[in-house]
Amino acid sequence: MNSWRTPAIVLKVQDYGEADRLVTFLTPARGRLTGMAKHARKSRRRFAHCLEPLSRVEFFLSGRNAGNLEFIEKGESVEVFQEVRRNLPRLGAAALLAELAGELAAPPDATVQIFATVELALRRLEGGDPPGSLLPAFLLHLLKLGGYGLHLDNCLNCGQVPTEGLYFSVPRGVILCAPCSQGALGPLLPLTLGEWKLLQQAASWPANKLSVLRFPGQQRDKSLRLVKLFLRHHLGHDLKSWAFWEKVAATRE
Ligand SMILES: [Zn+2]
Repeated sequence: MNSWRTPAIVLKVQDYGEADRLVTFLTPARGRLTGMAKHARKSRRRFAHCLEPLSRVEFFLSGRNAGNLEFIEKGESVEVFQEVRRNLPRLGAAALLAELAGELAAPPDATVQIFATVELALRRLEGGDPPGSLLPAFLLHLLKLGGYGLHLDNCLNCGQVPTEGLYFSVPRGVILCAPCSQGALGPLLPLTLGEWKLLQQAASWPANKLSVLRFPGQQRDKSLRLVKLFLRHHLGHDLKSWAFWEKVAATRE
């Protein structure tokens, strides 16, 4: 394979050996990749400002690879998202979204959209969108793109549109009306009609409209808890960035 260049969002950077760096990054064409940046700790010229997590960069890959490892010849910085870095809640939201995008083993046609969604979220956070509203909406959107779309339109069991309190089934990712929730496999999270409607909008609207949605504190926390439990059930572990988000969410935006 010939050398190629790709847009990338840096997910993680680790030192490797004396001089190299190991970089995990998201790409539109192939999802999450890992690459070796040879001599990156010495050659600042080839990798100026492009080995920072959550940076939007262009990587030039050599085309040879060893197993799952790419070789990064050089990088060019496109956007560093300075404001996201300066503000802990924005940084926490960005880190969670990027980590989820990297975890989704998506089909090739979805990786392009997943990449575009993370890039859009970073730009919106940079532009000042409130992270507490942006985060649940974009998490739900990424889940849908990754093939984990939640069924939120009506009770999965009887097909009725709930008119009062309802339940979210964590193992199935669906909603159930109160009567149908009796005896259903749990955990089940109770939702108010308001919470449900907001989740439904976030899960079904196109990414570029999501900024309009506002999640007040309680609905934000409830929605994030729902996504966290759902992901824990399906991935078998928590995303590492939850702990950071939960620590910084309450600090000043
Ligand atoms: Zn029902």
